[in-house]
Amino acid sequence: MSEIRHNWTKEEILEIYNKPLMELLYDAATVHRKHHDPNTVQVSTLLSIKTGGCPEDCGYCPQAARYHTDIEGNDLMSVQQVKAQALRAKSAGSSRVCMGAAWRNVKDGPEFDEVLEMVRTINKLEMEVCCTLGMITENQAKRLAEAGLYAYNHNLDTSEEYYKEVISTRGYEDRLQTIENVRKTNVTVCSGGIIGMGESTEDRAGMLVALSTLDPQPESVPINALVAVEGTPMEDQEPVEIWEMIRMVATTRIVMPETQVRLSAGRTSMSREGQAMCFFAGANSIFAGDKLLTTPNPDVHEDMQMFHALGLNPQKPFTKKDQPQTVEAENSLFQPLGEKPKWSRPGHMIPRNEMAKQKSK
Ligand code: SF4
Repeated sequence: MSEIRHNWTKEEILEIYNKPLMELLYDAATVHRKHHDPNTVQVSTLLSIKTGGCPEDCGYCPQAARYHTDIEGNDLMSVQQVKAQALRAKSAGSSRVCMGAAWRNVKDGPEFDEVLEMVRTINKLEMEVCCTLGMITENQAKRLAEAGLYAYNHNLDTSEEYYKEVISTRGYEDRLQTIENVRKTNVTVCSGGIIGMGESTEDRAGMLVALSTLDPQPESVPINALVAVEGTPMEDQEPVEIWEMIRMVATTRIVMPETQVRLSAGRTSMSREGQAMCFFAGANSIFAGDKLLTTPNPDVHEDMQMFHALGLNPQKPFTKKDQPQTVEAENSLFQPLGEKPKWSRPGHMIPRNEMAKQKSK
């Protein structure tokens, strides 16, 4: 059960997901112990370096400009602001900073140059640097790698079938293409999804098929529970039950034994006991900090108290892979190409997205 396989089927994954919970926990914990130190958990800090005003229509996201939410938009942060936040995160126990910008895709130009400088700056602080900037081309991935990027996040969100019920402004194949572009570099891949968006158990299994059949499998897989934000198309979704989260984490652990499985959004509504069961089931990474982009998250000091109570230790940076080198901008081997890739725009109608867009505030 603990070998790395790239041929998981939906039926096999469903069989695992639906096992009696105690058996599922035991199997997942067994796989976890074979591949990881069960008392070590990686701590990442997510920084929203450019908030709101996004042209995409992701049904779960308060940053989509078309929905009427209370999000305050911000222009791109400065390198100095990012450095100050990274230092604060480091002193609070984080080994990784993940910078998120509410963009559809990266465009070559001064803003991307700034992001590259942020990557250089944080890598020099000896922290792992991750970016989540939307779709990127191979050349952009190479420029990020050269700056010292450790990981690129690009979530598949859900199954290919259900994706069409969530987003109409881009296709699943764009996500896979971006992951492929990242794979042409030494940057590790972070890709996961969200549960609680109205998807079926089959869709959850479908997403795990899509992730686990990637070769290599993503080095980290965030599992988010939907935070239903007022004004978004998913504002009325029922909260995810803790058992569903535990099942999802455990199944992810079994089908991707080497991956760091990250407990991401939705932790504020989970008890410490619930989170402890997720760690037992194979979660070995969390997002720390009082905000996850725009939604609330437990305070880092509360997390450290929980770690203390559970006997968990934060993972040191570069435990799984060596620190990348940073090449300074003036020595770069890659030029901005000003590409205009044809990312898809299916544009089909998603009734709940349309209704949220029409609603007045
Ligand atoms: S999830 Fe990302 S791409 Fe989608 S609307 Fe939000 S910020 Fe934009």
